[in-house]
Amino acid sequence: MEVSEGVECPYCGQSMELVLDTSIPEQRFTTDCEVCCRPFEVVAECEPGEVLSVSVQR
Ligand SMILES: [Zn+2]
Repeated sequence: MEVSEGVECPYCGQSMELVLDTSIPEQRFTTDCEVCCRPFEVVAECEPGEVLSVSVQR
């Protein structure tokens, strides 16, 4: 089950939506900011159908 969650780029502060697969309880992946194009790491904890927490790291 996929849920979209808003995060902010840790470099430029741009808000963006990420789509997370909530069937994965703990996930960590790297994505690129659409605005400044720099990669950052996303760490998310999920329950099926719900995002419990999401944080971003440089
Ligand atoms: Zn950015």
